[in-house]
Amino acid sequence: MRDCIFCKIVNGELATDIIYEDNDFCCFKDINPKAPTHLLLIPKKHIPTLNDIAEEEYGVMGHLFMVAQHLSKKFDLPGYRLIVNVNPEGGQEVYHLHMHILGGRQMKSIFG
Ligand code: 5GP
Ligand code: ZN
Repeated sequence: MRDCIFCKIVNGELATDIIYEDNDFCCFKDINPKAPTHLLLIPKKHIPTLNDIAEEEYGVMGHLFMVAQHLSKKFDLPGYRLIVNVNPEGGQEVYHLHMHILGGRQMKSIFG
């Protein structure tokens, strides 16, 4: 997808350290970290939002959680927070599906 920053990272057009990569996903550090560890885990395929995941992709997307678990071990995170923002109302800014993996500090309740 042209003009998508995360597709450019996947294609190597935008130099970024890739922390993890397999056939379907890749992971790199957030440019503006909100925690000591702030990773972005993305499908290599351009899927704009969580709402755009096709039914036949559900299985592959389930694997995302396995990768998150693997990365939490790699980064030595005893606890962590996973966030997927969806659409403007959900605070999404980059329209290539991504999961934030945040850790390395105590998370506060987001429910006030
Ligand atoms: P969203 O608000 O869409 O859930 O999160 C997008 C995230 O992408 C933000 O946390 C932002 O800091 C990060 N980001 C935006 N542009 C880049 C970039 O070019 N490189 C990296 N590594 N992260 C980016
Ligand atoms: Zn993309």
